[in-house]
Amino acid sequence: LREWLEAREGAPSRPVSRLVVLAGPTAVGKGTVSTYIRDHYPDVLLSVSATTRAPRPGEVDGEHYYFVTDEDFDAMIERGDFLEYATVHNASRYGTPRPPIDAALAQGRSVLLEIDLQGARAVRAAMPEALLVFLLPPSWEELVRRLTGRGTEDAAEQSRRLDTARIELAAQDEFDVKVVNRDVGRAAQEVVELLAVPGAPSARTRS
Ligand code: 5GP
Repeated sequence: LREWLEAREGAPSRPVSRLVVLAGPTAVGKGTVSTYIRDHYPDVLLSVSATTRAPRPGEVDGEHYYFVTDEDFDAMIERGDFLEYATVHNASRYGTPRPPIDAALAQGRSVLLEIDLQGARAVRAAMPEALLVFLLPPSWEELVRRLTGRGTEDAAEQSRRLDTARIELAAQDEFDVKVVNRDVGRAAQEVVELLAVPGAPSARTRS
C-alpha cells in the first residue's frame, strides 16, 4: 500500500531550501518583518550582517549585526567572507557573511537576507536562483510618517534616507515578488510562504 501511495503521489515531498532576499525602501518595516519571521519560524536562518555603523540603543552585537571596525571590514573583504557588501546611505558599510548561508542551505534550511537594493542586485548576480522580494509601504505618505516617527535619525539623515527610498522604490519592478507591508504578521506570512518553510502554508503564485 505504501508503495502504491508513493507511486500515486510522487516521492514524499522534501522541503526545498531557498535563499530569499527581502529588500525595500528605508523604514518600510523590513527589520520588523524579518524579526517576526526569525521569532516565529526558527527553521529559517535570518542572516546577520556585519556593519561599520555604531549600534543603536538596544541593538545587540551578533544578533542585530556584527558591529565591526573599518579595519575588520576590510579584512573580511580580503578573506572573501562576504556574499555581497555595500556602502549604504553614503555612510556606513554593510556586508552579508557567506559561510553561515552556505552551511544552512547545505542542511536544507531556508535563508532570509534583509539587505538594501545594491545588495539584492549583487545577490542576484552571485546566486541567480535566489528569490528577490520587495517590501512596499501602503503609500509614500505612510513611509514618510514611519521614517520621521522612528526618531532615531536627525533631519539631515532623514532626508538622505528619503532620497534613497525614492531611488529604491523606482527599482521595485526588478524584483520577483512584491509584498505590501500593511500589517507585520500578514507581510511576514507572505514572505514565509515564499521561503517554502516546512509547516508553513504552501506557496501560492503571486504576480
Ligand atoms: P540600518 O542601518 O537601518 O540597520 O540599515 C540600513 C540599510 O542597510 C537597510 O536598508 C538594510 O537593509 C541595509 N543592510 C543591512 N545589512 C546589509 C547587508 O549585509 N548588505 C547590504 N547591501 N545592505 C544591508
